[in-house]
Amino acid sequence: MNTDVFSPEKRSAVMRCVKGRDTSPELAVRRILRAAGIGYRLGGIGLPGRPDVVMKGRKVALFVHGCFWHGHDCPRGARQPKTNADYWIAKISRNRARDAAAVKALEASGWRVVVVWECEMRKADFAARLIAMVLGQAASVAA
Ligand SMILES: [Zn+2]
Repeated sequence: MNTDVFSPEKRSAVMRCVKGRDTSPELAVRRILRAAGIGYRLGGIGLPGRPDVVMKGRKVALFVHGCFWHGHDCPRGARQPKTNADYWIAKISRNRARDAAAVKALEASGWRVVVVWECEMRKADFAARLIAMVLGQAASVAA
């Protein structure tokens, strides 16, 4: 009898989540880009901050940020951790500093940076906004 809780497929999907790659918000973004016929590559290795999605031809670097981890200015981002608050606050502030440095470095070398926050993805017109951002027709994904 197979007592393994996960199938091999499921397990590797879980492992990918644990490692922070291929999380579902990122998959959703990729699905939208694909549907719009926008070519992209994953994991900008060698680029500042290692963007999640890179559109080299357009010189667009895209990050998908979790609101809590990256300290977004929204209810989820403002949520206070109940335990180890000092630890998390310090960690989130380091993440924010690193994010800001990455954006600065990318822009300095001619990249356009698109930051997608998880909470923005719940908006009905998110896909249209995302595409406009990537094409440089909108300044922000936010409403
Ligand atoms: Zn948010």
